[in-house]
Amino acid sequence: MSFTVAIVGRPNVGKSTLFNRLVGKRLALVDDRPGVTRDLREGEARLAGLRFTVIDTAGLEDATDDSLQGRMRRLTERAVRMADACLFLVDARAGITPLDRELAQMLRRAEADVILVANKAEGAAGEAGALEAYELGLGEPIRISAEHGEGMGDLAAALHPLIETSEQQTGQAEAAAPRTDVAVAEGDETAYAAPTRSHPLQIAVVGRPNAGKSTLVNAILGEERLLTGPEAGITRDAISVSADWGGVPVRIFDTAGMRKRARVQDKLEKLSVADALRAVRFAEVVVVVIDAQAPFETQDLRIADLAEREGRAVVVAVNKWDLVEDRQARLAELREAFERLLPQLRGAPLVTVSALTGKGLERLVEAVTRAHEVWNRRVPTAALNRWLAEVVAAHPPPAPGGRRIRLRYATQVKTRPPGFVIMCSRPDELPDSYRRYLVNALREDFDMPGTPIRLTLRSQA
Ligand code: GDP
Ligand code: GDP
Repeated sequence: MSFTVAIVGRPNVGKSTLFNRLVGKRLALVDDRPGVTRDLREGEARLAGLRFTVIDTAGLEDATDDSLQGRMRRLTERAVRMADACLFLVDARAGITPLDRELAQMLRRAEADVILVANKAEGAAGEAGALEAYELGLGEPIRISAEHGEGMGDLAAALHPLIETSEQQTGQAEAAAPRTDVAVAEGDETAYAAPTRSHPLQIAVVGRPNAGKSTLVNAILGEERLLTGPEAGITRDAISVSADWGGVPVRIFDTAGMRKRARVQDKLEKLSVADALRAVRFAEVVVVVIDAQAPFETQDLRIADLAEREGRAVVVAVNKWDLVEDRQARLAELREAFERLLPQLRGAPLVTVSALTGKGLERLVEAVTRAHEVWNRRVPTAALNRWLAEVVAAHPPPAPGGRRIRLRYATQVKTRPPGFVIMCSRPDELPDSYRRYLVNALREDFDMPGTPIRLTLRSQA
């Protein structure tokens, strides 16, 4: 059974146009397939080397004479249950409507894998709508034009990791088995969609060779799951393993296999960076493992910075703590070095652990869960604007040329990681130091340690 993607969205956003572009003439005869409802169009999609099944929900809005809202809701619920991922289309020209918001909320609650797509984004007319789409809380919208075929590469790039992860999970035997969970019970459409997949927290454990990553992952998995023999890593690429970590379902990206292969090929340094990048892109929370006896070396800093730039939540695990003697002094030193060397990760938790003895792993999973929560944090607009008034009063922006720069209005436009826009007069003239002041204040005042914070200053249109 191939990876299945449903195209969802309110009428007229361009679902059929996208479906036709993805499928071309390779339309499946849906009626032949047991278990698949007849009123959904289904086809084999090809997109930049990816192949998957795509389901179109367009045109079904008129199927009954119920309210549009109710029909949309049921349709979308059904699509979510049938598909591995949803492309949620909005119309970048028309902007975000209440129905878009309602569907977005449903999709968020169902914890479906959703890729937000702003269609009709060709030219400048789609800019405002695409920006507005951030407010749906589904991350950054991919801008496309289904009609003109623009943005298809970006769409493929967004789908690729989902398809890859799914293939790795279903892997071997199950891949060929019939998928019973897609058989949607007819008449069961009104029930609220229970999520069909639980979404484990995605973690990457990264760090320099010998920092103790494999030992740590093994400790988390509670068994010698990762390779020990030399041959184990040679044939496979990166994979992820699922585990229950102190009651938290997690999926851990395993870089060890690639590392062992790298060792064989004697390209350790080079591969371990590419390796870290893949792992970081996979993850929601990145655990940077450093060796307490040789902390914050160049490679450690590079990896931590990579995680920040990629917008991931970061937790630093200071490993081999069992070997440290004067712990209190060492910890103070480490904190100081961390703040100085990685100011962009200010406040990220430092957790001392011993992967070998298992000590500190409970605190580590707590820090990971909390970092994940912060990464998903949404600050209410009213609170944000009260905050803006206060920080501006406490420390007014400069007045280049005698005219004070005005910060007018703040809004959070995205999560994962949190992103904010502040409307501002002459944003280009606001010094970096003031921008840092704002970011640090956001972090402190809204208690957002351990996550990158994105801030955009924009002049009013
Ligand atoms: P659906 O109801 O969501 O399936 O939407 P359709 O695919 O039927 O498209 C609705 C309208 O939007 C049609 O007139 C399409 O030609 C138009 N449309 C679809 N994609 C684009 C696009 O990328 N750009 C523009 N400008 N129009 C589009
Ligand atoms: P990786 O290269 O980052 O995967 O590191 P490994 O997990 O292979 O560990 C490298 C070496 O450090 C091995 O000899 C481990 O036994 C040792 N090691 C890992 N964690 C600890 C720890 O918490 N304490 C001590 N004393 N040794 C550790």
